[in-house]
Amino acid sequence: MQEEIKTRGWEMQRVCYTEFVYVEYNDCKGFTYEDPEYGLGFGTECRKVGKWEPVERCHDELVYVQEPWYPGPGEGGGNGGGNGGNGGYVPIPPEGGTQPMTAPNARKIFSGDLTEEQWKKLENMLKKIINDCMGEGLYKELSKIFNSNNKISFNFSDKEKGAKYSPINNVITFNPNMESGTLLHEMMHAYQYKQKNDVDIWRNQTINSEIESHYTQYLYYCRDTVSYNESDWIKGKIRGDKRMLSTEKLEYYIDKKGNFYGDSINFEIYWDYTLLNCFKTYPGYENYKYTPYEDRMVNFNNLRKITENCI
Ligand SMILES: [Zn+2]
Repeated sequence: MQEEIKTRGWEMQRVCYTEFVYVEYNDCKGFTYEDPEYGLGFGTECRKVGKWEPVERCHDELVYVQEPWYPGPGEGGGNGGGNGGNGGYVPIPPEGGTQPMTAPNARKIFSGDLTEEQWKKLENMLKKIINDCMGEGLYKELSKIFNSNNKISFNFSDKEKGAKYSPINNVITFNPNMESGTLLHEMMHAYQYKQKNDVDIWRNQTINSEIESHYTQYLYYCRDTVSYNESDWIKGKIRGDKRMLSTEKLEYYIDKKGNFYGDSINFEIYWDYTLLNCFKTYPGYENYKYTPYEDRMVNFNNLRKITENCI
């Protein structure tokens, strides 16, 4: 019964959307925000500078058609006529008219020219994230911002050594070998950017955003030892990545909901002389700017927001 109705309600349709293609040019004053991650080769990484140009892409997708379908000849009809009364499976009409069958969580906030396998991979990472209270909070917040008309473009790219979020074009580019904690990190950047939605503000507090995103990522791993031991984070630590090593000490001062506890003098010393130094001198981050808020806890506003409903 279910299969029968599925084939009626679902059909292949041509789905088109706009994707941005990166075109390099020689002017080195571009806005692209790079986020080299976790020791996959750093030091002399060349920062791509260029501009993104919109290109329309289309592919076939299995979608649910909201329009009422009518039974074919001899298949009965009317209210339960040949359909076993109320015992039939009635699909709930999805919002907006269409709903893809696979990767519903991923497709809700992301768009992209991904294969079915890639959608599944993305969905599996998102499932892990949503399974965590903080991750679920972030996903819900992103769902409010990114909807059917305004999604985050998502690209898997082997050429990319790490992962990055480009706020101007709202694109996450992700190395397929990376895992859910790194995806959470990039999703956090998308959320951070949208709080002000202003490129200049974003550029002036890139280091601030990195600290919050790294700490959020660390907290995510902390709840699951297995994830932690297999994470991109550990790979970075083993290679002596200063960002991981310095971020972990934040837990002596900031709890998992982004609230301060501990000794404020020691916190300020650690912040100014260890943490900031590690981030500002990280290869690839040298040109990132830091905004020195008098209250350092401003830097964890987003973390507090996404953990509001967590214990
Ligand atoms: Zn980052």
